[in-house]
Amino acid sequence: MSITAGWTERYAGALMNTFGAPKLVLTKGEGAHVWDADGREYVDLLGGIAVNVLGHGHPRLVAAVTEQLQTLGHISNFFASAPQIELAERLVSLLGTDAHVFFTNSGAEANEAAFKLTRRTGRTKIVVTEGGFHGRTMGALALTSKLAYREPFEPLPGEVVFVPFGDVAALEAAVDDATAAVLVEPVQGEAGVVVPPTDYLPAAQRIAHEHGALLWLDEIQTGIGRTGAWFAHQNPALVSGSVVPDIVTLAKGLAGGIPIGACIATGGSGKLFDPGNHGTTFGGNPVAAAAALAVLDVVADGLLEHTAAIGARIKAGLAADPRVVEVRGEGLLIGLDLVQPKSADVAAAAQDAGFIVNAPTPERIRLAPPLVLTDADVDAFLSAWPAILDAAGVTEGANS
Ligand SMILES: *Cc1c(COP(=O)(O)O)cnc(C)c1O
Repeated sequence: MSITAGWTERYAGALMNTFGAPKLVLTKGEGAHVWDADGREYVDLLGGIAVNVLGHGHPRLVAAVTEQLQTLGHISNFFASAPQIELAERLVSLLGTDAHVFFTNSGAEANEAAFKLTRRTGRTKIVVTEGGFHGRTMGALALTSKLAYREPFEPLPGEVVFVPFGDVAALEAAVDDATAAVLVEPVQGEAGVVVPPTDYLPAAQRIAHEHGALLWLDEIQTGIGRTGAWFAHQNPALVSGSVVPDIVTLAKGLAGGIPIGACIATGGSGKLFDPGNHGTTFGGNPVAAAAALAVLDVVADGLLEHTAAIGARIKAGLAADPRVVEVRGEGLLIGLDLVQPKSADVAAAAQDAGFIVNAPTPERIRLAPPLVLTDADVDAFLSAWPAILDAAGVTEGANS
């Protein structure tokens, strides 16, 4: 029995079966590379699902976390710390408008905070999009469209109305004077990297504001440099004109792998909570905040440009194979559709070939690699790609 098989058996005996059998048991990582329990090396093109912005074991992230933990690790929110305050200030300045921040430990919790914040408008209706993903807690799940995730847990909280993603007319019809907020992902991540028309977010903002509703952008997957801009809603390749959301939620990449989330609200929305309205024990702790500050520093050091350039190279390389019908996304959030619904086979074949990719739907492959991915990693992946499709049995033309 391989070492991996031994761990996999122990996993099944000790952990709840929420994720199915693990695809690999990993033991170490460096840059965009990881190693499994049997010593095999992989190029990690998923990055912990868009989380490991700086890859694995980045020296500046390791140093920031180590130093902070040696200095002051956890204090609770009865007290404040410099990293927490500095991080909030940095995020507000990246947003480029007056705002206030509530820190959490995950994306779902950031969305829970935002969901509660919208209730403070005195309204309860939320308009969300089909295909949207916002997390697995009861509130975040209420905002998530996938039936298979929702149905076992109904009734879910809230008055939530779903509209087709990217459809301005559908928003016009759904948003009314009872609407507290319109919630959209600038690019739908879990749906397989679905990009709306560039006028969608500006239209969503206009429609929301015409009815006194808030525009809430879930940038949990798209934020912090992922698309080659700090926030996807600031990326001119994705959005025509300027959008100033009332609420932005962040998590995944923000601290490069240390758990963190943030609910940021601009203008008056940032003052909707009163003392006692919301809380968290761990949220905003100094270690997570120090990690996030290190991520922001390194990303600011040229990684946005690198992300945009290397992402464009990957997209062009993948699209060159005729078995790929569409490649979408910006920067290092990339999705593609295959001619046949064989994405699970492609992900398995990629893993056999030493590349970790994700199959969010039967037709779609998603890549969300570390932003420190190198040109050599990209060369290796693109040259292996046709053989990966061969091994997965993806054939040109015939829709078998
Ligand atoms: C991952 C994700 C979430 C949930 O984040 P968790 O940290 O898993 O709770 C919410 N929204 C979007 C867009 C995500 O990609």
